[in-house]
Amino acid sequence: MPGRSRSAEPNLTGEFAGAIHLPTPGFVPDPGGLAKAYADLFERKGGRFLSADAKTLEQVSGGWRVGGKGLVAATAVMAIAAGRAGSGGGAGGRGPIWCFAGSAMRVPLAVKRGYHLHLAPMATPSSTIRCWDADQGFVLAPMNRGIRLTTGVEFADRDAPATPVQVERALPRAHALFPLGEPVDAKPWKGARPCLPDMLPVIGKAPHHAGLWFDFGHQHHGLTLARWTGRLLAEMMTGETPFADPAPFAAERFG
Ligand SMILES: Cc1cc2nc3c(=O)[nH]c(=O)nc-3n(C[C@H](O)[C@H](O)[C@H](O)COP(=O)(O)OP(=O)(O)OC[C@H]3O[C@@H](n4cnc5c(N)ncnc54)[C@H](O)[C@@H]3O)c2cc1C
Repeated sequence: MPGRSRSAEPNLTGEFAGAIHLPTPGFVPDPGGLAKAYADLFERKGGRFLSADAKTLEQVSGGWRVGGKGLVAATAVMAIAAGRAGSGGGAGGRGPIWCFAGSAMRVPLAVKRGYHLHLAPMATPSSTIRCWDADQGFVLAPMNRGIRLTTGVEFADRDAPATPVQVERALPRAHALFPLGEPVDAKPWKGARPCLPDMLPVIGKAPHHAGLWFDFGHQHHGLTLARWTGRLLAEMMTGETPFADPAPFAAERFG
């Protein structure tokens, strides 16, 4: 085994030809905790969370309302950020086309599903090293919950039953690469990445509806991009000069 790989992560075992060291990868060991911290900050700054099904969104005189008969919110401007494909399918139902109540606009939003599983570490990993096995297509990353084994993309309906075969295939190789214990999770976690054909999100005004804005379709990078696309949307909504050119993200590109 190449000596420099071993000195960077002394726990690595097994046979491999070599490694590429990326010195400063961005990394969040508790994504759920980060999202909760953002939510707490939002409330501390005076924001409020209200819950309603986005499928009940309707245009009314002077703006938008959501919540149906049990009205939850009525407002002059509304932003839709319900990212999972099909989530707004009031008129379109399930499938790869997303559309919202009362709208003629149809967005070809589909999902790429993915899985991960946390395993107990049998050794203390280097705090900075994540291992990507390019041949087998998986990543091992130390998280607060354990060592996360994460695999590649699965093309399937968003709500189809889970088929974590990639995780099952990767497990023996992962055990050979790093001293791993038993799974911490009862079963692999499944998620769905909301993707558009050009792999760019939709950010900006709805083409045919005054006061309606979009910010969805963050594909593989929602955690990383959200703070920037949220800023871009806020600047567009408040009439400030946007820090980046919003043209490539316009909803009009889908007609
Ligand atoms: C396996 C996997 C690995 C990932 N890895 C990374 C990574 O390494 N780096 C990274 O930056 N990102 C990563 N992500 C994040 C990801 O790819 C997405 O970009 C991100 O989750 C999309 O964010 P979103 O807010 O657009 O949509 P979502 O996360 O789907 O959030 C949409 C929200 O809308 C709500 N919603 C949906 N339908 C309705 C409805 N009808 N009414 C009301 N609310 C509704 C949902 O409950 C949810 O809260 C990963 C995701 C997966 C699944």
